[in-house]
Amino acid sequence: MSEFCQPQLTTLLEAERIQARIRELGASIARDYAGRSPLLVVVLKGAVPFSADLIRAIDLPVTLDFIAVSSYGASTKSSGEVRLLKDLDASLKGKDVIIVEDIVDTGLTLSYLLDMFRRRDAASVRVAALLDKPERRQREVEVAYAGFTIPNEFVVGFGLDYAERYRNLPYVAILNPAL
Ligand code: 5GP
Repeated sequence: MSEFCQPQLTTLLEAERIQARIRELGASIARDYAGRSPLLVVVLKGAVPFSADLIRAIDLPVTLDFIAVSSYGASTKSSGEVRLLKDLDASLKGKDVIIVEDIVDTGLTLSYLLDMFRRRDAASVRVAALLDKPERRQREVEVAYAGFTIPNEFVVGFGLDYAERYRNLPYVAILNPAL
């Protein structure tokens, strides 16, 4: 492939800035949940890098579980259908749950997960998201721990992919289509 066909990346959030913000989020969570042991539910696959850094910034005995959903977003369907691909390993009953997401865009994925987790009798459910793209919101969701508010651009890196690529970038970049 010629170099002219490669998409261009424009850095939006540098690695150091992301790490500093995650440390702040971790400290806030540790303060808010002092004396408790929250269960962090990581939404695969995009939230993996964020969650790996976040748990190490929370000075509490946290536990982890993983869930995978596929979202048919607003661009392809207006129904907001979300499909469960992998369920949690353990019960949520009585747990203080923090859902860990890479990005909140339309809010459809999170509102689906919030509804489901409340029906499963969690003691509390909050959301931590590295990125928030409020311009495209279709469902109001409260993000208790939000890393960065970003403009309505398609971004990759730090867990976020384009056709499964770029998840391992240590920074977040805007993906500009090939010219
Ligand atoms: P929502 O349900 O809030 O519309 O979207 C959630 C999912 O859409 C995210 O977890 C993410 O996988 C995907 N998504 C939304 N915006 C972006 C983006 O700018 N870049 C990438 N790579 N994925 C996105």
